[in-house]
Amino acid sequence: MEKNKLQLAQEKLKSIYGYDQFRDGQRGIIEKVLDGIDTIGIMPTGGGKSLCYQIPALVLPGVTLVISPLISLMKDQVDALNELNIPATYLNSTLSANEESTRQSRIIEGEYKLVYVAPERLNHPSFQHLLNQITLSLVAIDEAHCMSQWGHDFRPSYLSISSWLEEISQRVTVLALTATATKQVCFDLQQFLHIDEQNVITTGFERTNLTFQVKKGVNKQKFMTTFLASRKNESGIIYASTRKEVEQIYDELKSSGFDVACYHGGMSESQRSANQEAFIHDEAKIIVATNAFGMGIDKSNVRYILHYNLPRTVEAYYQEAGRAGRDGEASDCVLLFSPQDVRTQSFLIEQSDRSDDRQELEYKKLQQMTGFCHTERCLQQYILHYFGEDTNKTCGKCSNCVQTGEKVDRTKEAQMVFSTVKRVRERFGKTMIAQILVGSSNQKVKQLQLNNLSTYGLMKDWTQKDVAEFIDILMAEEYLRATGTSYPTIQLTEKTLAVLKGEEQLFVTETLAPKEPEEQDDVFEALRQLRKQLSTENNIPPYMVFSDRTLKEMSRYIPTT
Ligand code: ADP
Ligand code: MG
Ligand code: ZN
Repeated sequence: MEKNKLQLAQEKLKSIYGYDQFRDGQRGIIEKVLDGIDTIGIMPTGGGKSLCYQIPALVLPGVTLVISPLISLMKDQVDALNELNIPATYLNSTLSANEESTRQSRIIEGEYKLVYVAPERLNHPSFQHLLNQITLSLVAIDEAHCMSQWGHDFRPSYLSISSWLEEISQRVTVLALTATATKQVCFDLQQFLHIDEQNVITTGFERTNLTFQVKKGVNKQKFMTTFLASRKNESGIIYASTRKEVEQIYDELKSSGFDVACYHGGMSESQRSANQEAFIHDEAKIIVATNAFGMGIDKSNVRYILHYNLPRTVEAYYQEAGRAGRDGEASDCVLLFSPQDVRTQSFLIEQSDRSDDRQELEYKKLQQMTGFCHTERCLQQYILHYFGEDTNKTCGKCSNCVQTGEKVDRTKEAQMVFSTVKRVRERFGKTMIAQILVGSSNQKVKQLQLNNLSTYGLMKDWTQKDVAEFIDILMAEEYLRATGTSYPTIQLTEKTLAVLKGEEQLFVTETLAPKEPEEQDDVFEALRQLRKQLSTENNIPPYMVFSDRTLKEMSRYIPTT
């Protein structure tokens, strides 16, 4: 390529943005784009994707069109560019007819280097008309994973992009950018945009300034308030999975005097954008939100992300967590885990009207997300492995890396679990396997004569809950897998055999930290029955015997076996 174009790009980086060097991946992408090669760029959230089209826009002749899914953010993005003296504008439905036609004529007069639009606009006749009067050099598709049904944020309007590109009469360069690195998504993008493997540029996915932590078995509310109290002057996002939960957390924090805003899909457009603005401009330090919040927001000083609930996939998790520390400063990503969240997500998958194949995939992804919470490996390493980047390097600071518990040899116990799974011919789920091993006198175990199995009661010194947790760890490390259904059964994997044969040993961290016990559903159910009995016997309403809350609290402390 002409050397001077790249030099020019380098100069712009310094003179306009004030940065000395391109980041990993930026140079490669920009080089291709300046060479007129259609390219897919995959970089983690916060990795610096915007520059990959903004700088070429300044070097190339004509206009760069930026397709972005979020109308609510276009103004902010364009304002930010204008502040850097970059001539940019946007066209979307928030503009009056008058304003729109003024902008259109200015675009035609060549006043702007960058024009942001939402995909819905591409097929408007007036937009087509506009295109015929300008020179388009580059089309940048931001958040390009929205094109793929396999992505976690599919948008039907994004599908029209590829046909629109095919019909366009000018020769333009296409750059698709995303943080979603899964094979399926990348494959879809290549198909839709006719881009070869060699023009897919993926950078490393590691985010060295982030510290990942998984907290299991904590009282979420208590944890959250203590955590937030210790970070009063910092900006952070709390993600919860439902609107209701978002509102509850918001109310609670508000009444405890925290400087907080909230955001979810059930709020009015204007409320949402007001709250988003308040957060971006540091008027609210904390925002409590569903996953509807955050895409495309470039707030550099987010110091922590707190996941109150389990996200459904690792890509969704990493994208959300990645919104911390865009400025490169150290930031924390804390996930509060409870088994109930796995059940909730499974339920949602089951309820969705997706095809069986699709559901199966979603269960699998949920399992991999759950694995993140049970793994013994370095959490950053786990994520990188998920994205196909295998490394032996550990981050040295995640909650697993700093774990002080002693590693104990659990090969024998793992063999007991595997044998049980084998003996029941992979037909049962986690609970049943755990019940067999602890020698439970549960009805079903007797009915199915599972108490005759040779492994029955072999782990009777363990609680059923600990065995279940041990199975979770074995799944996270891929010694076991669960089938992709709402009632998953446990199966052996390729990795199992070596342990069964005694060729490989298995060490598990003994957690020394005292844990607050989880609520136990079966115990809770039994207590409810008891309450019912008492209430009929004494002719008083059940809630006057014991509240649900009390029962839940009690259920934490009653041993199951
Ligand atoms: P992404 O879209 O990939 O999530 P952004 O494009 O919003 O990320 O960039 C994230 C942050 O990184 C921004 O604050 C941006 O200014 C900064 N940044 C981008 N490129 C560089 C660079 N070469 N040097 C330093 N900072 C950069
Ligand atoms: Mg971006
Ligand atoms: Zn680590």
